[in-house]
Amino acid sequence: HPPFDIHAIRRDFPILQEHVNGHSLVWLDNAATTQKPQAVIDRLTYFYTHENSNIHRAAHELAARATDAYEESRNKVRQFLNAASTDEIIFLRGTTEAINLVAQSWGRQHISAGDEIIITWLEHHANIVPWQMLCNETGARLRVVPVDEDGQVLLEEYQKLLNSHTRLVAFSQVSNALGTITPARQMVEMAHRVGARVLVDGAQSVSHMRVDVQQLDCDWFVFSGHKVFGPTGIGVLYGKTELLNDTQPWQGGGNMIQDVTFEKTAYHGAPARFEAGTGNIADAVGLGAAIDYVERIGLENISRYEHELMTYATGCLKSIAGLRLIGTAPDKAGVLSFTLKDFSTEEVGTALNREGIAVRAGHHCAQPILRRFGVESTVRPSLAFYNTYTDIDRLAAAIDRIRGKKNAF
Ligand code: PMP
Repeated sequence: HPPFDIHAIRRDFPILQEHVNGHSLVWLDNAATTQKPQAVIDRLTYFYTHENSNIHRAAHELAARATDAYEESRNKVRQFLNAASTDEIIFLRGTTEAINLVAQSWGRQHISAGDEIIITWLEHHANIVPWQMLCNETGARLRVVPVDEDGQVLLEEYQKLLNSHTRLVAFSQVSNALGTITPARQMVEMAHRVGARVLVDGAQSVSHMRVDVQQLDCDWFVFSGHKVFGPTGIGVLYGKTELLNDTQPWQGGGNMIQDVTFEKTAYHGAPARFEAGTGNIADAVGLGAAIDYVERIGLENISRYEHELMTYATGCLKSIAGLRLIGTAPDKAGVLSFTLKDFSTEEVGTALNREGIAVRAGHHCAQPILRRFGVESTVRPSLAFYNTYTDIDRLAAAIDRIRGKKNAF
């Protein structure tokens, strides 16, 4: 049982008190987005009530307050990831924007015909399409590491793909479609041995496990605020300082320059170099509040509790006749993915919604990995630390009822 007061925690999330179709809400769509604690909601209100201003460029008091709040939040992110310096933390819109930034700035500068980029079969479309675009543009080749029947990366196949042409390896630390935890530390080390750079997609990992970018030794790490109990529209690109300062800016504009004439522009170093224009100041501050909240509970406590809940949920689902669990790795975080015999995933999703249970039914922006398992779509309940054993019981009972009601469809 949880090493924290789960009822108190649930009261921190006002939306968990909602009713849907006459039932109390069971939020099991955390892999799509997480709910926000009152502390985050209050922080946004406080910002707009007492601090709102553009940052970095005025002498007045509110500019100082807004700048301090924004930069404090950057430092919270730095601590959260254990990055060496706040210069390594860039605020962007989210994971998708961060990956596109690396592909379009570093990628265009360093990738050319004959080079190879390695991803895995597990990737979200956000970690496939930008590399595909870069390959089409440059003549580089995209190579994909296969997975085994449990949905685990085949390290010996990965080793075979690594060679002197490999410039970049990009993979997720946790798969959003199956929940597989990849051996990230080892994969980074293997890539570095052939001189490749490594981007780790942490969209599905940061809310479930402690991440230490120095220990991982990845070159870039990206995540979205909305998947770690923060606001939408704010996310983070971590990059090693030297690498960031060696990379051409992506977007040009205000804030990212040192000096502009009509002949030429001198750019700032990171992070300003990659934060052109007015950013999402309030939501960056909100993300800081989300990190404070998560750190108060403790990532280690969260991991331990979610692991138990995941084991319990896996057992419950496995015992349902006709349910096929996809993604059966022993090391998983957050995500369960399944199909139900004789029912479309959409039918299951709709029937669960009728009982107030929110899950995702679809391809989860990860079509290749679902096709690897012979399906176009799955039902995906996904967990957070505020989920309970009762949530899982209600899910399992509802699925059982759907099975009994074939004629209802
Ligand atoms: N990568 C992974 C593993 C994800 O789960 C997601 C979100 N589903 C993304 C990337 C994209 O994140 P966002 O839509 O917040 O940019």
